[in-house]
Amino acid sequence: MSLYIPFDNSYAHLPDRFFTRLDPVPVKAPRLVAFNAGLAAEMGITPGTPEDMAQAFSGNRPPKGAAPLAQAYAGHQFGGFSPQLGDGRANLLGEVVTPGGQRLDIQLKGSGPTPYSRMGDGRAWLGPVLREYVLSEAMHALGIPTSRALAAVTTGESVYRETGALPGAILARVAQSHIRVGTFQYFAARRDVPGLQALFEHVVERHYPQAQNPADLLEAVIEAQARLVAHWMSVGFIHGVMNTDNTTISGETIDYGPCAFMDMFHPDTVYSSIDAHGRYAFSNQPNVIVWNMAQLATALVALMPDQDAAIEDFTRLVHAMPDRIHAHWLQAYGRKIGLPAATAEDAPLITGLLQAMAENRADFTNTFRALSDGGARDQFLDPGAFDAWEAGWQKRIATEDDPARVMRQANPVYIPRNHRVEQMIAAAVAGDFAPFERLLRVLADPFTPQEGARDLTHPPQPAEVVHQTFC
Ligand code: AMP
Ligand code: MG
Ligand code: MG
Repeated sequence: MSLYIPFDNSYAHLPDRFFTRLDPVPVKAPRLVAFNAGLAAEMGITPGTPEDMAQAFSGNRPPKGAAPLAQAYAGHQFGGFSPQLGDGRANLLGEVVTPGGQRLDIQLKGSGPTPYSRMGDGRAWLGPVLREYVLSEAMHALGIPTSRALAAVTTGESVYRETGALPGAILARVAQSHIRVGTFQYFAARRDVPGLQALFEHVVERHYPQAQNPADLLEAVIEAQARLVAHWMSVGFIHGVMNTDNTTISGETIDYGPCAFMDMFHPDTVYSSIDAHGRYAFSNQPNVIVWNMAQLATALVALMPDQDAAIEDFTRLVHAMPDRIHAHWLQAYGRKIGLPAATAEDAPLITGLLQAMAENRADFTNTFRALSDGGARDQFLDPGAFDAWEAGWQKRIATEDDPARVMRQANPVYIPRNHRVEQMIAAAVAGDFAPFERLLRVLADPFTPQEGARDLTHPPQPAEVVHQTFC
């Protein structure tokens, strides 16, 4: 049986200057190491033999109906603007419309150099490919909008990084689109208003059909990103590189680089080796997303007939974003402490717990889960700090129907802990994919305690702690 993907491409029909058509650069010896049969089924894809799919998802033999291209975009990287970025190591094969009516991109990451590669080699190594595979699927299972992992292949070639030669790999990933804030910035920076208008129309039709004008679009993206970042905050996720070229218009998490879930809670936590000043630290993510939306607003102004009025309008929308984020944050954290409808009055209860957790080196995931399952005070260096908080909390939840049920649906048992991810990568590099498959299996059902998976709830031993993550 051969692989069949029901392509129905739309981005490829946009004007030529939106992208460069090119095939993925072939690799020596592709081997399929992961295939997401469930996602493929949802997409209406007919799987092929492992050999067939290795050829397709390495890009050696693009599947029938693909229209491979590298997308052009710009972006602010750590606050500095680059007018020309683009897919330097990715290739959009095309889109499918699922049987459920959803349009989804299929993109290969690590597919070889493109005109946008600059100094890069266009490749990825197995570590980041498996990290993204596991983390994106874990995020999906946590109910957080994200790109998905469809397949991973090893290339049979070496990739050279700081640490030396590493096994090359390619990830086939799926997203509602890969259109970024930086895609709008690309056309705005060139004062290409017809390009900007064509992008606007494409995005409205694809993601926000109810938007009538750029202000509506801006508001819709702000809302989607406010929800997304509040969601990240509620599971201890740190994206690591919230550049505007890594911020989607759809409101999905994309471009998993040096991202990580926190073990011990501290608001200043940074893992990314390239984030020297903590711009993208855990607690700074809500500020950064507002800044990124201001960049989107700036790009959209060029579409408006009365630009002074638009600036005023858009500024108001951006300035209102922190309140939106806070509202989503309050809902998410309310559920985490057993309140399905938290109000502003409950905010001090939440921040009080977080402060006690930070001061007492409490594990983020295990502390929240223990609120319903028992043993929360053991997470605190000084258990008395929890007791003091608990008294007020017990009083507050006494009038709730079934707070334990609410908490068990909001607080995962399992997250992809960094040390487990690193151990999984080391095993895979040595040829053992069992830890990868096990992580995927357990993280697919993160809210349910599973037989024989207790070790995956443990924070790292001192020797296992991961201090830095790399792209
Ligand atoms: P990122 O920080 O991973 O989102 O990447 C920022 C930009 O650098 C994008 O244009 C990427 O396509 C490009 N890039 C990252 N890694 C590579 C690489 N190994 N080869 C070529 N381009 C790359
Ligand atoms: Mg072109
Ligand atoms: Mg990127």
